[in-house]
Amino acid sequence: MKNTMLAVLTATAGVLGTVQAVEVTNAMIDNDAKDQKSVLSFGMGTNGQRYSTLTQINTGTVKNLVPAWSFSFGGEKQRGQESQPVIHNGKMFVTASYSRIFAIDLKTGNKLWKYEHRLPDGIMPCCDVVNRGAALFGNLVIFGTLDAQLIALDQDTGKIVWKEKVDDYAAGYSMTAAPLIAEGVLLTGVSGGEFGVVGRVEARNPATGELLWVRPTVEGHMGYRYDKDGKEIENGVSGTVNKSWPGELWKTGGASTWMGGTYDATTKLAYFGTGNPAPWNSHLRPGDNLYSSSTVALDVKTGQIKWAYQNTPNDSWDFDGANEFVTFDMNGKRYGGKADRNGFFYVIDASSGKLQNAFPFVRKITWASGIDLKTGRPIYVASNRPSDPTKGDGKKGSIVFAAPAFLGAKNQMPMAYSQQTGLFYIPANEWGMDIWNEPISYKKGGAFLGAGFTIKPLFDDYIGALRAVDPKSGKIVWEAKNTAPLWGGAMATAGGLVFYGTPEGFLKALDAKTGKELWKFQTGSGVVAPPVTWQDGDTQYVAVVSGWGGAVPLWGGEVAKKVNFLEQGGSVWVFKLAAKG
Ligand code: CA
Repeated sequence: MKNTMLAVLTATAGVLGTVQAVEVTNAMIDNDAKDQKSVLSFGMGTNGQRYSTLTQINTGTVKNLVPAWSFSFGGEKQRGQESQPVIHNGKMFVTASYSRIFAIDLKTGNKLWKYEHRLPDGIMPCCDVVNRGAALFGNLVIFGTLDAQLIALDQDTGKIVWKEKVDDYAAGYSMTAAPLIAEGVLLTGVSGGEFGVVGRVEARNPATGELLWVRPTVEGHMGYRYDKDGKEIENGVSGTVNKSWPGELWKTGGASTWMGGTYDATTKLAYFGTGNPAPWNSHLRPGDNLYSSSTVALDVKTGQIKWAYQNTPNDSWDFDGANEFVTFDMNGKRYGGKADRNGFFYVIDASSGKLQNAFPFVRKITWASGIDLKTGRPIYVASNRPSDPTKGDGKKGSIVFAAPAFLGAKNQMPMAYSQQTGLFYIPANEWGMDIWNEPISYKKGGAFLGAGFTIKPLFDDYIGALRAVDPKSGKIVWEAKNTAPLWGGAMATAGGLVFYGTPEGFLKALDAKTGKELWKFQTGSGVVAPPVTWQDGDTQYVAVVSGWGGAVPLWGGEVAKKVNFLEQGGSVWVFKLAAKG
């Protein structure tokens, strides 16, 4: 019924010529990375390369980049703005903190509509009230909310077309990632690993919100698919019950899929990173705790896990493996690159999941001395695992200094891959933490950690570093250090540039080959979001969201104290080259 109405409305608008609706099709989404006129998906293409073939803004012209317009998210709601805008049919759709979304006229910067989700008291986002972006399909713009709902709005009017509750926010579920659309299916994850939720990937019909299948990412849980009447049909257990999880802990095992996924049209697989096993205290759950802190590759049609690679088995440091798996070509084969929170960069065969290479992209890693390329497993430094509190006074285990800190060598800020240089550009952070374990038991809606911690800087002069990394050699080719921890994503262009933002408020453009800074602009608040670029008519534009916040001010310990002078905000900036003359 909803479908039919939507089709009729769209057809009518087309005939009258008042609104030229351009429905987003799956073919358009598959072509997103190549189409210079739009940005239809998080990652500027479903494989997440964040690479644009546009060249008008380049190493020679970028010095003339000036603001075209800026738009304020307004209100009293600021906090972290981690959103990547999507661009389509003359409109920008950009989400903001507290589950808000705006539609903006691309030419003028005028607001077309906004939707502010009514959030209940008692939502439990672990790491600020952020949202990372929306997905486009048909005439819909779809995003997830902090109370774990999916909202689909009409792109032209901002009116709700469908709305689905994904899970119970009172049990710690929330949604912050941009949904992924692949093979005409809407794919989403859940946040909440700090509250003992059960991570999973869900597939829906993007036109209606109807559930197609559910695939849990904690071994032991049943997957389901749904027939056309919504009837639940068992679709196989994820892994083997109790094989890598002891006792009952798998029932509240975490492994949340909080960063969403990527999709590669050549392998036909969707890749989702999974977060920490719950609780953090690893002595309560001996075993690998599959599929926590992993990448899982899923068949989009059925939800079957085709392969899984675990970055941190029996994680003890909150090394969520949620980071994006970005596919790329190397030596005539399709690989995926992943800069993991645990400090290692992984190069993995995108079809089979076989590990090709793994190397550090930060200076200090204490928990493992390396990754064994034969077995694919980390070589643990046993003495650097926080100890079992039941072996000491029963209240608190030994305090261990660990690097990276749990906020990770890289966190939510997406990296970019340049097809021009063959390099990955990683917003990395150098920090460590004191960490210790404590007893804990599961309570619905309570933090499920069993650990205490304090994050500390490692070096006096910088925490953040944008690093250009060669996936073939495993070498850091160049780096651009930053005083504050980096928390915004990167973008590479065929203009020979890499763009990224800093908490100090700058959007910067560097020479992608050398790392030389060529341009910067002060946006007025910290940048913790990834930039995008597109072409409209004969003009190339760059946009980025500004608004300091995210996990660092909330969880950053001694680092948070160092950056507490930074001011909050909430706006999106759009840039173009200054007119000649
Ligand atoms: Ca976590």
